[in-house]
Amino acid sequence: MAAKVRFAPSPTGYLHVGGLRTALFNYIYAKKTNAKFLLRIEDTDQTRIVENALENLFSIFQKININFDESPEIDQGNGPYIQSQRLKIYHKYVKKLLVEGKAYPCFCSSNKLQQLRKEQRKNKEIIKYNRHCLKKNFSNIKEKMETQNHVIRMKIPPGSEILFNDLVRKKIRFKNIEIDDQIIIKSDGYPTYHFANVIDDHLMGITHVMRGEEWLSSTPKHIVLYDFFNWKTPQFIHLPLLLNKDKSKLSKRQGDVSVEKYLEKGYLPEALINFVALLGWHPDNDQEILNIEELINSFAIDRIQKSGAVFDIEKLNWMNKQYMMQMDLSKLCDLSKSYFENEGIDISDNEKYKKVINNLRMRSSTIEELVCAAKPYYLKLKISEENLDFLKLEKSQILIKELYNQINSTKTNLDELKFKKILFETGSKLNIKGKNLFLPVRIALYGKAKGPEIPSIFSILGIKESLNRLNKAKNEK
Ligand code: GLU
Repeated sequence: MAAKVRFAPSPTGYLHVGGLRTALFNYIYAKKTNAKFLLRIEDTDQTRIVENALENLFSIFQKININFDESPEIDQGNGPYIQSQRLKIYHKYVKKLLVEGKAYPCFCSSNKLQQLRKEQRKNKEIIKYNRHCLKKNFSNIKEKMETQNHVIRMKIPPGSEILFNDLVRKKIRFKNIEIDDQIIIKSDGYPTYHFANVIDDHLMGITHVMRGEEWLSSTPKHIVLYDFFNWKTPQFIHLPLLLNKDKSKLSKRQGDVSVEKYLEKGYLPEALINFVALLGWHPDNDQEILNIEELINSFAIDRIQKSGAVFDIEKLNWMNKQYMMQMDLSKLCDLSKSYFENEGIDISDNEKYKKVINNLRMRSSTIEELVCAAKPYYLKLKISEENLDFLKLEKSQILIKELYNQINSTKTNLDELKFKKILFETGSKLNIKGKNLFLPVRIALYGKAKGPEIPSIFSILGIKESLNRLNKAKNEK
């Protein structure tokens, strides 16, 4: 059977970076092994339905250039690929389990179940359903099911352990006694994740289930379901947890976890892909910058790590900067355009715009940061109190005046290099150097104490605007 992998998100309205990691590993594995890659939407939790979730998901995958061979948009005969449209299928299979005594209805109210859990907790017992409804052996079960609210539970078979192989973690064992009679059909008639996931993975021909480690403890229940139906189990590959720097589970509390947010901030799709691919996997050398082809070529399941992978935003920033520096300038200009426009910055002077992007891409981790650093080139300077005070110092004023005069008198053919020469000559003439030389001039021209090289600022602003700004600064009182 040809290999097939899948990404099976529950639509939550945004794509979690962990979701991107799962999708990406599956995608890379599919490309590497010539397997098919399928997208299935697991929307059986009707209480968590979010509007436009699907459209958002499609648009992100388009932006980051991950595509599927089968999906709700590309039906290859295994559809529908949206679980809420497959209820009839699940009911057919649950009926089989009911008839064979592998599943049973449960009429217990949630209050009753809560009470049961409370007692089990108190008695330090394993928290699981006590099979009350199974033991009752109701005689009027058909009628009860037609008239009363109920769920369907799978009946975990007797036996000592459930054993399976995970390609990352190798042999995994769970004790039967510790496994709950999982609800497989909820009282609203929808299947739970466990049931729908197994039915669909089988019907859709999935050979490798690659997903986050948080699903590892669900796998024994899935194995039981495969056994119930006499179906071949797929290979399991559980990817390590994603952690914050303090080793806690990656959470919203400590920063953004949504892929859209990272794209909005101007992280490049290529950099995000590269970064996420290294969360829990690495090539067999020290190479850290890998494009998608290189990732596909060097990917191997046996180099997926077991221990949690730390999501280090500084590393992402570093990586994004590498991509911004290496990117074709006009491509970066195009990509950045909308970010400038959103800030209301007029970039119609193309020559200047190109110079600005080239000047700042070495200094910015994201496009958002680049736009922020570009504002002084386009907008009225906003100078902080502290910097203004520095500018007003007598020493600074003498320097600015002298520099203004020098530039004003050598106007013609004044390029970046010549400006640099004038700057240093002015400094040595007045015996001003270091911080006392650079700070006032940078504040005068760029509005900030820190920023790009002063001659490059001059070159971008041009003589006229530089003179304007120096003139304004020399009149600061
Ligand atoms: N719907 C599950 C999720 O949201 C899928 C887990 C799996 O891949 O089995 O992650």
